[in-house]
Amino acid sequence: IGRHHPDAETHGFEYNGVHFDEKRVHVFAGLCAVDTREHVGQMMAALEQAGIRTTRMGAYKPRTSPYDFQGLGKACLPWVFELAGKHGIKVIAMEVTDARHIDEINTALAAAGDPTGVMLQIGTRNTQNFELLKQVGQQKRFPVLFKRGMGISLEESLNACEYVASEGNPNIVFCLRGVKTHLGDPHRNLVDFSHVPVVRRQTRLPVCIDPSHAVGRMDNAPDGLPDIFHVVGQGIIAGASMVLIDFHPRPDEALCDGPQALELSALPRFARYVESVRLAY
Ligand code: PEP
Repeated sequence: IGRHHPDAETHGFEYNGVHFDEKRVHVFAGLCAVDTREHVGQMMAALEQAGIRTTRMGAYKPRTSPYDFQGLGKACLPWVFELAGKHGIKVIAMEVTDARHIDEINTALAAAGDPTGVMLQIGTRNTQNFELLKQVGQQKRFPVLFKRGMGISLEESLNACEYVASEGNPNIVFCLRGVKTHLGDPHRNLVDFSHVPVVRRQTRLPVCIDPSHAVGRMDNAPDGLPDIFHVVGQGIIAGASMVLIDFHPRPDEALCDGPQALELSALPRFARYVESVRLAY
């Protein structure tokens, strides 16, 4: 990941027509967990209308409780990929929690005629699942969105990320998503976007921020903007080039993390907000 090469420039890469580098900010807005075909269709139609060609869609969900919704798994892949193709989506960030999921994604994409691209997401609970990291590093087809561990140091997370690169896949985006503290923070996690410049200084990786899992709730600041907007602004000003963010057509019906999801009606405003911050800095 470039830690041992202090002069290394940010490793920009292109995947399925999308350029990941420090010059752009990509919004990966979508469903934390895929639930119904209707909701996926509504989400992707809203993205198309807003001119956004990247999304997040959780099919394999790593849940804290075994009694919570575990995701639809490979069963939803055929129609998720079909709808992505229909709405011009170029890249879907999709978490994998087991190496078998990579094969399932490969198979479903081929069966659908490769209508879209997939970025394999490593979630915070698997940051140090070294065998999984080796497997995503050994395949070269898909880029990797690597999330920092929520309860380990940044140094430990960066070392874990190195497992992906050292196995041969350099196309990695490093994602900050907040860290756990014992302080009873007003937000779900302590927002760690002040680490964007640190990661950029210490590695050559483009950096993503995940305000949804960092903040974890929907409160408005005194100026009327949700807290989530404000932390996105901080992250972009600090140099983030990707934003992973939860939306849902009906947050109250979401089967996972509904309280942190923005409504679809907020998508155009969010896209304008990101663009205005990007242009200002
Ligand atoms: C997610 O992005 O769906 C997710 C579970 O995030 P994290 O791994 O950061 O908790």
